[in-house]
Amino acid sequence: MKEFKKLLEQNDFSKDDILSLLKSEGEDNALLLKRSREVADAHIGQKVFLRGLIEYSNICSKNCFYCGIRKGNKAQTRYVMEDEEVLDCTRFAYEKSYGSIVIQTGERADKAFTDKIEHLIRQIKELSHGELGITLSLGEQTAETYQKWFDAGAHRYLLRIETSNPDLYLRYHPDDGNHRFEERLAALERIRRAGFQLGTGVMIGLPGQTLEDLANDLLFIKQLDVDMVGMGPYIEHEDTPMFGDPELILTKMERYQLSLNMLATLRLMMPNINMAATTAMQAIHPDGREEAILAGANIVMPNITPLKYRECYLLYDGKPCVDEEPARCHGCIISRIQSTGNQVGLGEWGDSRHFLAKQVYKY
Ligand code: SAH
Ligand code: SF4
Repeated sequence: MKEFKKLLEQNDFSKDDILSLLKSEGEDNALLLKRSREVADAHIGQKVFLRGLIEYSNICSKNCFYCGIRKGNKAQTRYVMEDEEVLDCTRFAYEKSYGSIVIQTGERADKAFTDKIEHLIRQIKELSHGELGITLSLGEQTAETYQKWFDAGAHRYLLRIETSNPDLYLRYHPDDGNHRFEERLAALERIRRAGFQLGTGVMIGLPGQTLEDLANDLLFIKQLDVDMVGMGPYIEHEDTPMFGDPELILTKMERYQLSLNMLATLRLMMPNINMAATTAMQAIHPDGREEAILAGANIVMPNITPLKYRECYLLYDGKPCVDEEPARCHGCIISRIQSTGNQVGLGEWGDSRHFLAKQVYKY
C-alpha cells in the first residue's frame, strides 16, 4: 500500500489509488480534504461563482425510479412558470450580480417546449444586456434542439450520467426504450458538439452501488473530459419506486461523507474543472455546501424559483430552503461562502477554466 501522503501529490490516479482516497478515514481523510482545497486554490483560485437556479417546470416525460417529479408520481401537482415570472427571477439575479442563471426542468422534447426555452434564453440575454451566463439542465434532446438553444445564447449544459455502470443504470430506470444508457452517452456528445461547456455527474450512495462503481464513475468523468461536474448524495423520496430499497445500506451521513470524498478525489484528478456544491449536500447536513467548498467545489446554485413552486419541485425528501425567499437566501448564501474563507465571484460568468484552456489550445 502506497503511503497516503505520496498519493495526494500525484496527478494521475489508478483505480486502486482512487479507492484508497474514497475509503480514507480520520487523519488521512483530513489530509485529503485539505489537499483538494489547496489544489483548487492553485488551479482555479478562491472564488466561488453563483448560478441562480430557476426550476422552470416539474412536468416530466420520464420515470426515473429515484426522482420525486417522475411522470408516474400522480401525487405531484404540475406547473410551468409564466414567462414574466422567469424574467422576474432573472432580474433578481441580474440586480444581485449573480454572474449566471441555470434553467432546470423535468424532461420534455415537444416543439412547444423547445421553442419556449429558446424564446426565454433570448429574452434573458436581452434583459441582462448579454451579461448573464446561462446554464441549461433540461435532459436529453436532439442535436437540433441543443444547437437551437446554444445559438440563442445558452453556453453551459449539465446532464448527469447518474451512474457510469450500465447495469446499475438499467436498475434505476424503466426498461421502456425511453431511458437508455447509450442514448444518455450519445446526448452528452451532442451537447459538446453543439458548443456547450459540458457538465455531467452521478448520484452517490445509491442502492446496490459499490465503492468500485464510484471509482469507475470518477474515471468515466475524467475520460469524458468534461468541463463541469454536479454530483451529490442520493436521497430517497417516499413517492418513488426506489423508496425502501433494502440494498440502500449507507446511512445519509455515510452518503454525505462519501460525497465529500468523491468531490475531493475528483478535484485532485481534474484540478481546473468547475464543481458544484450541491443542494443535496445541504439537505443532509446544514453546512453541506460550505464543506463541499472546503473539499474543492467552486460553484453554488442559490435557488431563485418563486416560493409558490418550490414545494412542487422536490426531487428528494428534505430538500432545504423550500420556504426561503430568494432575497433571504441571497444574504445567507453570501455569508456562508465567505465563512469558508473564499470570495464570491459576483458579476462574473466563472466559466470552466478547463474548457477555456482547451479553447486556447485549439487555436
Ligand atoms: N430532468 C433533468 C434535470 C432535472 S433532474 C435531468 O434528469 O437531467 C436533475 C438531477 O437531480 C438528476 O440528474 C439527478 O441526478 C438528481 N436527482 C433526481 N432525484 C434525486 C434523488 N432522489 N436524490 C438525489 N438526486 C436526485
Ligand atoms: Fe424527470 Fe430528470 Fe426526474 Fe428523471 S431525474 S424523472 S428526467 S426530472
